Amino acid sequence: MATVTVEGLHKSFGSVQALNGVTLDVPDGSFFVVLGPSGAGKTTTLRCIAGLEKLDAGSVHLDGRDATGDTPADRDLAMVFQSYALYPRRTAYENIAAPLRARRASSDEIGAAVEKVAALLHIERLLKRRPAQMSGGEQQRVALARALVRRPRAFLMDEPLTNLDLKLRVEMRTELTRIHRSLGGTFVYVTNDQVEALSMADQVAVLKDGQVQQVGTPAEVYERPANQWVAGFVGSTRMSLLACRVEGDQLVGAEGWTLPRPRWTMAENGRPLLLGLRAEDVSVERRGDATLPGELYGLEPLGDRTVVDVKVGKEILRVKARSTVTGTPGERLSVAVDLDRAHLFDAESGLTLAESSR
Ligand code: ATP
Repeated sequence: MATVTVEGLHKSFGSVQALNGVTLDVPDGSFFVVLGPSGAGKTTTLRCIAGLEKLDAGSVHLDGRDATGDTPADRDLAMVFQSYALYPRRTAYENIAAPLRARRASSDEIGAAVEKVAALLHIERLLKRRPAQMSGGEQQRVALARALVRRPRAFLMDEPLTNLDLKLRVEMRTELTRIHRSLGGTFVYVTNDQVEALSMADQVAVLKDGQVQQVGTPAEVYERPANQWVAGFVGSTRMSLLACRVEGDQLVGAEGWTLPRPRWTMAENGRPLLLGLRAEDVSVERRGDATLPGELYGLEPLGDRTVVDVKVGKEILRVKARSTVTGTPGERLSVAVDLDRAHLFDAESGLTLAESSR
């Protein structure tokens, strides 16, 4: 299998700069996810790796060798798209066998390879069906099988689960990580779904406006976001951000509140900051030394949990609570803050502040 390294990718379409210096280092055998919102440049990055786009600048190395000038076929990468692109008149078996036939493999070899990949994807019973006789999820599995059977150098996957319903998506997430583990290949997987990224990836690269914001393990990106934007994009419940500054041993909010200064911050007095609090790191049920005064603004029941919106001055703080929580808007509340898990960003640049040890 393969390492994939891209360096300084630049790509414009007319006046739109899709990629503005993208550098990624995909380790051999990893499940590497490129995560970003619509228009971030994810598909363009994948197409550049595949050799389907001409670069304005930058390079692509496969297994350490410069492949920038290679044709897509020479690169030996398999691409799986969100549209399945199966041959409609052929059976699943023939669809999966197609890349092996193109390579002139013997029918014994083809039979063995198709059988193996069909077992891996649990699609043995579909092999005689045509695409029209299969559900979307089944077609997606066949498309995946067709990519897997080739044993390419690496797999490039562009939002392959997007067209599936939620239940199937969740199932396929687990399935894909299982397949990755049993195959041991290099996967570069593009998605705008941060849950998908956090649950599947060994490494995540967060992309915005054609620029890499951060690369790290899912835990690193979630726990130590490089900037305010990553902090807001990653996480099912958006991180709350409160304007503040450090004054001596206190954190003073623009809305008039005070908290003890987190011991881990080295921020200088008076510098405009944003305090970032994840909904699970604040509580309306616990008591603590560090609390913010607010009033209930709204309740959002999520089934197993309820998100409580608390108004702190003019700012809204989102708080995860038990689903049994009740209250009336306007009611005064005290929110306990876990300062060891809080984040501080420079208000101007949005960058995470340097920390002393936590
Ligand atoms: P999505 O999640 O919506 O697929 P993405 O992150 O994959 O988005 P890209 O498809 O890479 O984003 O597009 C990046 C930017 O480049 C967008 O602004 C898009 O409109 C533009 N773009 C991409 N391909 C072309 C093209 N062939 N012609 C013109 N503009 C393009």
